[in-house]
Amino acid sequence: MIRVGLTGNIGSGKSTVAQIFSVLGAPVYHADYESKKFLTDSQIKDEVRNIFGECVFDNDEIDRKALADVVFNDESRLKQLNRILHPLVKEDYLRWCDEHRQYTYTIQEAAILIESGFYRWMDYVIVVTAPREIRTKRIMQRDSATRKQVESRMQRQFTEKELKKYAHFVIDNGGKELVIPQVLEIHRKLADING
Ligand code: ATP
Repeated sequence: MIRVGLTGNIGSGKSTVAQIFSVLGAPVYHADYESKKFLTDSQIKDEVRNIFGECVFDNDEIDRKALADVVFNDESRLKQLNRILHPLVKEDYLRWCDEHRQYTYTIQEAAILIESGFYRWMDYVIVVTAPREIRTKRIMQRDSATRKQVESRMQRQFTEKELKKYAHFVIDNGGKELVIPQVLEIHRKLADING
């Protein structure tokens, strides 16, 4: 089974592209979603409490918004959180891959596939791109966010130029190219590689 990583900057359309792969029959592992489920584990909650304190808790549950506010404004705090979560996600992902080993290929969608080093576990990397202004407008609309909020989230990501250095495939989702044919072409290539 070929392990394919799918990434791109905020608003590039990763989830949209992942959905197309899913319709084509490829299992998709959503790393961001899966990593959040560990935040309800009692051992993880204890570790988070020890490092970040009660301010990121609401009663006995981690307040994700409060935690996000802390880590997104402090690189070293983000690293500390990642040190807890990344090994768990990696283990969970590899177990998931094993469960899906009968498939030709699977997709892992992750916002920080490159930044986290997770790309090293992938056979191929797909990067979804779109001009910054289009990405900004999409997210402002999707999340009812201000331009400032979106731009602050963008600041912490690699630029598209950097992401593309790691890409075996690039999908242009800037609105000028049709997306489905681009996905189909990659789908066929991946099937050929395995064949
Ligand atoms: P995030 O990193 O925030 O999860 P993402 O890269 O997964 O973002 P999506 O959620 O897939 O991006 O897309 C962002 C928004 O833009 C969504 O509301 C989606 O419906 C819309 N969108 C994606 N691709 C296109 C497109 N080609 N044309 C118009 N709207 C699009």
